[in-house]
Amino acid sequence: MRYNSQNINIQSLSSWFNGDYTTVDVLRLDRIHPVISGNKWFKLKYYLEAAERTGKNTIASFGGAYSNHIAALAYAGREHGLKTIGFIRGEAHSPLSHTLTAAQACGMELVFINRSDYRFKDAIIQTHADPGWYWIPEGGYGPEGARGASEILKLVDVSGYSHILCAVGTGTMMAGLVRTASANQEVIGISVMKGNEALQKAVDDLLDAGDQQKQHRILHDYHFGGYGKHPSNLVRFMQGLWENEQLPTDIVYTSKLLFAVKDCIEKKYFHKNSRLLVIHSGGLQGNNSLPPHTLPF
Ligand SMILES: *Cc1c(COP(=O)(O)O)cnc(C)c1O
Repeated sequence: MRYNSQNINIQSLSSWFNGDYTTVDVLRLDRIHPVISGNKWFKLKYYLEAAERTGKNTIASFGGAYSNHIAALAYAGREHGLKTIGFIRGEAHSPLSHTLTAAQACGMELVFINRSDYRFKDAIIQTHADPGWYWIPEGGYGPEGARGASEILKLVDVSGYSHILCAVGTGTMMAGLVRTASANQEVIGISVMKGNEALQKAVDDLLDAGDQQKQHRILHDYHFGGYGKHPSNLVRFMQGLWENEQLPTDIVYTSKLLFAVKDCIEKKYFHKNSRLLVIHSGGLQGNNSLPPHTLPF
């Protein structure tokens, strides 16, 4: 899959420097591609490869109306000449969300599944069984996704960082980061869901016994009310981050991550002279669902 790795850079947040911390750097994966940004390129890579290797012509997956995974899959499928089908949670609303409109424009077929049936993914897969289809689990969760995400920390030299921080949805990206992190680094995931205590196990299930021993933890206090919730204090934080650092963030993942990092710094969570690498995993297309002019970027 093609992406523009030259655009990926590290941005230091100079206004956050408070004397106790050497560095807060942001790895700008969002700059890979103007439409489909961030970790989804990496997470999809080996699923696409497996689909092609096994001679499938169609990729099917699951997601909600604002899913970055669905948006990225639609785009990547078109790039690879594979048909894509998105099984979407809930009823079709008119007009469709920006995400789904964009997915459709890439050629994805959308199948809407009511919320009670959507919980039974295996039944959906059985009903639609087709030998030409390759199924990717919801959100790209799985070993292939983690394997792709394990390449994120190989893009740049990360050996000088003490902590790697990322937003967590399914935990796939975090597992990939833990795989590549070294024993003296700690990977900290910020859950964007309320009380998703199953995440730690979800991450560990994607790691072998050796990698499970590496330092990694998930913080659950920065969900801002739950998945997709973006109260006005979060939006104000995003506006400030843009004004002070010209760093664009998304309402679902990276704004909560950056808020958490700042809060942890202020609460002296990290030891002195920590060097933090914050993964900007993209997702900016999700901001299109906000009223126009909510954000200055
Ligand atoms: C999907 C996504 C995540 C979460 O990745 P998981 O591997 O599901 O934990 C984080 N940030 C952004 C911007 C995303 O789109």
